[in-house]
Amino acid sequence: MNAMPIPPSTHTAATIRDNWLQVCADVATACQAAGRSDSEVTVLGVSKYVDPPFAMQLVEAGCQQLGENRPQHLWAAHQAMVQAASSNPALAQVKWHMIGHLQRNKITRSLPMLDCLHSLDSLRLASALSAAVVAGRQLPGQELSVLLEVNVTSDQAKTGVVPAEAAKTLEHVLELPGLRVDGLMAMTTLAASQAQTQREFASVRELRDTLQKQFGSSAHLHQLSMGMSGDYPLAIAEGATLVRVGSRLWQGIL
Ligand SMILES: *Cc1c(COP(=O)(O)O)cnc(C)c1O
Repeated sequence: MNAMPIPPSTHTAATIRDNWLQVCADVATACQAAGRSDSEVTVLGVSKYVDPPFAMQLVEAGCQQLGENRPQHLWAAHQAMVQAASSNPALAQVKWHMIGHLQRNKITRSLPMLDCLHSLDSLRLASALSAAVVAGRQLPGQELSVLLEVNVTSDQAKTGVVPAEAAKTLEHVLELPGLRVDGLMAMTTLAASQAQTQREFASVRELRDTLQKQFGSSAHLHQLSMGMSGDYPLAIAEGATLVRVGSRLWQGIL
């Protein structure tokens, strides 16, 4: 983040638009190569690197879903967009995704802004989220969409539930009111070979397929959140439905 917010110029707006269109074109190409419809894949614009005015340019370019990995940045970006929405109603329509670890003491403030939490990485977090959704529910049956974060790498330091524990965790989460588990999210090993990254994406999909079979109609695990700037075409080839693209969208800006 810049120390002092710099308003975007027409030049940066054009750069952001070009980046957005290029990413959309890459997604269409990857979908076509995989025999998938590009309506199956949503590009999540990861706005954590930039100040709100730049994220607004991305929305104006056509990106309707944004992701943040830190609650404080989510709050600031969300507030800035709500304030600016009087001059551009599209900003009020943005859907916000939390893609980083959410500490339990940040739940109450974050919850009203969130459309989806990708980083459900423990039962403790799930219970706290469930309680907060139920307590703050304005409509009966209102639910938060969550993705179970799984760690398919061999790195134990990474966040997420290991595959051997995924079924047990999912079973408990499915019993909690106020949460709707829509699928899985994963981070792959940083700077791995393409072959390894591909194997990790494939193992996320296979884990999803296994869990779906096991839970049948009690779960609807249709979302696979995987793939970032360096590997989103590969993730799409392996079944991603949500790609989390950050730095590629800010190329030429940062
Ligand atoms: C930052 C971040 C991304 C985007 O990464 P890029 O490589 O910049 O596209 C995706 N997912 C998560 C969880 C992140 O924190």
